[in-house]
Amino acid sequence: RAASTVVTFDGRGRLADGMRLPLLANVGGASDAAAAAAAQAEGVGLFRTEFCFLGRVDAPTIDEQVEAYRGVLAAFPGRKVVVRTLDAGSDKPLPFANADHEDNPALGVRGLRIARRNPALLDDQLRALARAADAESAEVEVMAPMVATVEEAREFAERCHAAGLDRVGIMIETPAAALLAAELFEVVDFVSLGTNDLAQYTLAADRLLSDLGELNDPWQPAVLRLIGMVGAAGRAAGKPVGVCGEAGGDPALAPVLVGLGVTSLSMTPRALGRVAAALDAVTVEDCRRMAEAAAGAPTAAEARAAVTRAG
Ligand code: PEP
Ligand code: MG
Repeated sequence: RAASTVVTFDGRGRLADGMRLPLLANVGGASDAAAAAAAQAEGVGLFRTEFCFLGRVDAPTIDEQVEAYRGVLAAFPGRKVVVRTLDAGSDKPLPFANADHEDNPALGVRGLRIARRNPALLDDQLRALARAADAESAEVEVMAPMVATVEEAREFAERCHAAGLDRVGIMIETPAAALLAAELFEVVDFVSLGTNDLAQYTLAADRLLSDLGELNDPWQPAVLRLIGMVGAAGRAAGKPVGVCGEAGGDPALAPVLVGLGVTSLSMTPRALGRVAAALDAVTVEDCRRMAEAAAGAPTAAEARAAVTRAG
């Protein structure tokens, strides 16, 4: 299919055998959310809240945050919206959250780690989210970026509950979190795989260096095997496993992810149609076969070739 072909999405992701696979959108603010709703996204699988405040020197007030969050929630009445707490640091500098110079910012104080040092920033955000959720009728779920330990996840869940937010999850974007998925499912309701960072940290390859693009590839079998471990832990716990990294918008990879145990995919809205079409052409059995072929391959190139053969 030519890259320019527009494939429309009918708003209901499913496999050829009828199995439902919700297809959600990644957004960074109200205008993205309106575009995602127009593209028939079933909800939002990743609201990158830091995008609302990029470049700001001072922290946004709670009122400013409520307004920004309501702008996104309003586009999805009655639908699921997964809001990620501020993922500041590294490739997303937010001066009010982390202005320190770090020699290795991708390994530095970023994401949820900032909340350890500045608890009020997270608590204010959670209060603003609870207020925005009350004011709009979307189904708000909240998740933390850059989790590496069970203690971090437990403390995050406690603080969300204290703020009145009861659907709590974490992103799985470090190998540590993938390895501990079973234990993490004991403290959260869902997880979402951030495959951009998961590839970066698994292959030890800076995602900002285009020279390392071959390593920063979700088709790398090491990344696929970690995703499979998380999928198996999700199935065992009976809890959802989403994908919200760029991998979720790759139509060739989508059946593999489903076969590895992923239960929803979130992507840039323009990818929805082609991912939906790819899933509509396969059964869950096909997905499992493709997943086994891909994760069992020794290299990313062979994983791609194996999936083409198995498809
Ligand atoms: C990811 O790491 O895959 C992800 C979805 O988060 P971000 O790209 O915002 O770091
Ligand atoms: Mg990330």
